[in-house]
Amino acid sequence: MSERPKELTLAEQASPNYECRACGYVYEPNKGDSKLDISAGTPFEELPVNWRCPVCGVPKTQFVNIGAVNAPSGFAENLNYGLGVNRLSPNQKNLLIFGGLALAFLFFLSLYGLH
Ligand SMILES: [Zn+2]
Repeated sequence: MSERPKELTLAEQASPNYECRACGYVYEPNKGDSKLDISAGTPFEELPVNWRCPVCGVPKTQFVNIGAVNAPSGFAENLNYGLGVNRLSPNQKNLLIFGGLALAFLFFLSLYGLH
């Protein structure tokens, strides 16, 4: 009996974002820090030790891990199914689903209006 390794969702795989406790600036690893020549994809942990908040200048130690907030939910292998819907974040999905329902409801109402 061998256990399969647990699959991680993209949110779990993605490097977490870090927020500056002093000013609220959020370091997003997938964007990097263009001002300070940090290339996109650099995790917070790999920033140089002398890296400071580009907004207010506090050191790395003043940043807190706030998780990977913008990563798509679901598994990477599913991303290309469903016409790209799986690339949406959960909030966007809800908007799509409930927006669609509301439109369908209005459509049915308009049918009654024809009689
Ligand atoms: Zn700051």
